[in-house]
Amino acid sequence: MSPIDLLHALGVVGVAILLVRAATGRSTTQKDPQRDFTPAQRAEGFARARNQCEHVTVFGRRCTNAPTHGDHHYPHSKGGATTLSNFVALCARHNLTKGNRVPTHLATRQLERHRRTYFPPGARVDIVWRVGGRR
Ligand SMILES: [Zn+2]
Repeated sequence: MSPIDLLHALGVVGVAILLVRAATGRSTTQKDPQRDFTPAQRAEGFARARNQCEHVTVFGRRCTNAPTHGDHHYPHSKGGATTLSNFVALCARHNLTKGNRVPTHLATRQLERHRRTYFPPGARVDIVWRVGGRR
């Protein structure tokens, strides 16, 4: 198969995927129609974080700043839900530093592990980021 033939083959597959997506109405990134957290979500998210930024440094210490931003742990622009289960209380510095990067699996597990030390008893520490609630 020549490189030209390969490109043509990939092109046909690509077009087929687009046609299937168009027919099923699905896209690769299904965004939550709600972009911003509500004041109630922010208040609850900050309270469960004990009004402290949830960023954990490379030394395993938690940032001591007060949270001012409600962050989508899994970015909204990449399909993260605007729900408390995807909410992280961050200071402005750490939210702006994080940007819209998708956290690593390790960073997510680290956050969940840290949350067990400060979340109220019985509160869920796991991150559920997809619209519709699946991990
Ligand atoms: Zn911080």
